Amino acid sequence: MKEISAAEFETEVLEGGKVVLDFYSTECPPCEALAPKFEGLSTLYGDDIKFVKMFRQENRELANELGVKSSPTLLFFDKGKVVADSLSGGIKRSEIIHHLDTMLPQDRVDQIKSGIKPSVSEFDVIILGAGPGGLTAGLYLCQSKINTVLIDIALPGGHVSTTHEVSNYPGFIEPQPGYMLSHNMSEQTKLCGTVYKVAVDVTKIDLEKKEVIIDEFETVRAKKIIIATGTSPNLMGIPGEKELKGKGISYCATCDAKYYGDKEVVVVGGGNSAVEEADFISKFASKITMVHQFAGFTANKHAQEKLLANKKVSVLFEHEPRSFVREGDKMITLVENLKTKELTRLESDGVFVFIGMKPNVALFDNKLETDSWGYIKTDEDMRTSIPGIYAVGDVISKKYRQITTAVADGTIAAIAIAKELN
Ligand SMILES: Cc1cc2nc3c(=O)[nH]c(=O)nc-3n(C[C@H](O)[C@H](O)[C@H](O)COP(=O)(O)OP(=O)(O)OC[C@H]3O[C@@H](n4cnc5c(N)ncnc54)[C@H](O)[C@@H]3O)c2cc1C
Repeated sequence: MKEISAAEFETEVLEGGKVVLDFYSTECPPCEALAPKFEGLSTLYGDDIKFVKMFRQENRELANELGVKSSPTLLFFDKGKVVADSLSGGIKRSEIIHHLDTMLPQDRVDQIKSGIKPSVSEFDVIILGAGPGGLTAGLYLCQSKINTVLIDIALPGGHVSTTHEVSNYPGFIEPQPGYMLSHNMSEQTKLCGTVYKVAVDVTKIDLEKKEVIIDEFETVRAKKIIIATGTSPNLMGIPGEKELKGKGISYCATCDAKYYGDKEVVVVGGGNSAVEEADFISKFASKITMVHQFAGFTANKHAQEKLLANKKVSVLFEHEPRSFVREGDKMITLVENLKTKELTRLESDGVFVFIGMKPNVALFDNKLETDSWGYIKTDEDMRTSIPGIYAVGDVISKKYRQITTAVADGTIAAIAIAKELN
């Protein structure tokens, strides 16, 4: 895989025929998740399409000129022209394949795909999701000599890997950078011998057959499955959000805050995540306007007090965004005062949205019993409504979603399964 600089853009990309360019950053978990997929696809499509990457932090001017606002971003060129929508954030392998396929004649696409050989592998336990819940289950199962595979659509670590600081995980006197805590958890489980299949597309899950198909062609079977797929950020669902996601609207401060040095941002939300992440963003941005629907924050007292004492931060309580538009370099957030119904335009360089989470259950086709918010119901051993299927961590119906509670769930499921299998 060739790494290029802005100086080589003209010769390597504009004069380079069919090219896909990856703008990546360091300390960017979605960039790390993309890297192995990008590498793998370059082997498959490399005879027809050139794969290059560029370090965004050292080539900011070009990245800005090309409209790259978040990392990673993939741009697709043919004969010097952009030929498909850019992809950014947590990019799926299937999305890249879809874009690459549109750049080639169908018979060539068929020829490339015919070269892929389907495979089948068997394990005792499949764990879906390598956040704290899944990693802990993997550790306990591995230490019980149970043949286990951890499957994740991203890199191991879950939300912890993109949390800038964790101060409430026991065993550490000082607050830990989230990526370090998740790295340590993952290495401990991997060193024990758990098999990892990460940064893959989970194409299909058959809970009855205990079968998971990844990257379209690889079937993984097991006696039991642990679902540890966690949650994803809620979207606001207002005009402009989908179009500007990754192009001025971000859901990950760890990934994107560093690009807002001395710039002004809007942060939407008022819970723990919004308040803690706004505090982190204030290390870079010159001004933060928080927009929150209620009359006060719902975050913990300590975090609230810290943020409200921060001179860079101002707050619009009882306001809600109604739309996002881009005007040149600026993002315009139209906010409504919920009391007076008055609309105000907030001009900023970027917007961060932290308005709560929803469970990652879409692939289970409503086959599992859930609560009214869609979280999976379990018994005290983490068994779900389908025999042999367990669920742990944030994806289950429970009151408190923390690293410690996910770790506890993972422990319980693994011990229960180990007893059954042994
Ligand atoms: C911004 C933020 C800050 C936080 N700060 C703290 C804190 O300071 N202290 C604390 O205790 N808690 C904190 N939390 C909560 C904590 O991160 C979660 O409770 C914890 O990560 C839950 O772990 P989990 O394993 O259940 O899920 P997650 O961490 O969400 O991991 C789920 C994993 O599943 C993967 N996945 C999703 N769908 C699929 C699929 N279909 N197939 C395979 N894999 C899939 C994901 O890629 C991910 O790796 C924070 C959360 C956020 C969002």
